[in-house]
Amino acid sequence: MIKEIVVISGKGGTGKTSLVGSLAYLAENKILVDCDVDAADLHLILGGKISSSKNFIGSKKAEILLDNCNSCGICTEYCRFDAIKEKTDTSSNITQFYVDEYSCEGCGVCAKFCLDEAITFKDHISGKWFISDTKYGTLVHAKLGIAEANSGKLVSLLRKTAHDLAVKNNNEMILIDGSPGIGCPVIASLTGVNYALIVTEPTVSAIHDMERLFELTQHFGVKTGICINKFDINLKLCDTIEKFSQSKNIKVLSRIPYDIGVTKAQIEGVPYLEYTKNGISKSIYELWDNLKQEIIEPNNKTNMENNKLIQLDKLH
Ligand code: SF4
Ligand code: SF4
Repeated sequence: MIKEIVVISGKGGTGKTSLVGSLAYLAENKILVDCDVDAADLHLILGGKISSSKNFIGSKKAEILLDNCNSCGICTEYCRFDAIKEKTDTSSNITQFYVDEYSCEGCGVCAKFCLDEAITFKDHISGKWFISDTKYGTLVHAKLGIAEANSGKLVSLLRKTAHDLAVKNNNEMILIDGSPGIGCPVIASLTGVNYALIVTEPTVSAIHDMERLFELTQHFGVKTGICINKFDINLKLCDTIEKFSQSKNIKVLSRIPYDIGVTKAQIEGVPYLEYTKNGISKSIYELWDNLKQEIIEPNNKTNMENNKLIQLDKLH
């Protein structure tokens, strides 16, 4: 059975993607997915080469068929988004209507009220999605256009593609860099996964986000764990996170200290563990070992213990 693990955080800057990069370094036989489609950057750490690139049709936009349009203007009265404009040709004094595609939401109301069937709908390309071959495995990722909507739909497309690839290639795991926040894209990142790892840090806003994310994972019945990143920047708030996790019975899988090496690895464009085996490596290995314990079936525990020893060997 393919295990799906999503790594999420309430906001950017907690170090989520850096950690996913290191988990990608450690995990074997997996597919990687970057579901942070509004600001995808996992590919910057993992590198690799794009092997497939496709358009993402996120929505439809209305279009007026001028041959059918009698310029009655009824559609303009019904468009709540002021997307239907008119222009008059000064020489012929003929008024024509057209759709401003940046304002059109594709709701379809105009077409319902056009008696002359002069409105049609065309596919709108909202972004691109890719399959890349990286040193650490196949990566499915995307780039949503500026101010484009439907990121939840794109996330679902990426996850389905990753799942199909995992089935085809006999991969055992899908490791997902989840979308930030608690909206539609993160819900699409989260639904149906086996495990959600919340990456948080000891700041007031990150703790608030962590609490909201935990409510969300519980709503969807997803087993959840916490990683406290940069735990030593505020020990008092770190203690607040520990108390929260105890009160909710959630495991803290690792407490990772602050390390400037994380930024240096990002600048180099490599996962932290590729950059160095020192610094916070031990805490990341601990995170990975505990994560594997969390998702393992009980009767496979012996194998996991063996794997743990192998991972510790890699460290030393
Ligand atoms: S309602 Fe139909 S016919 Fe009238 S202006 Fe709009 S598109 Fe043209
Ligand atoms: S589809 Fe909706 S938003 Fe677009 S032009 Fe028609 S009424 Fe306006």
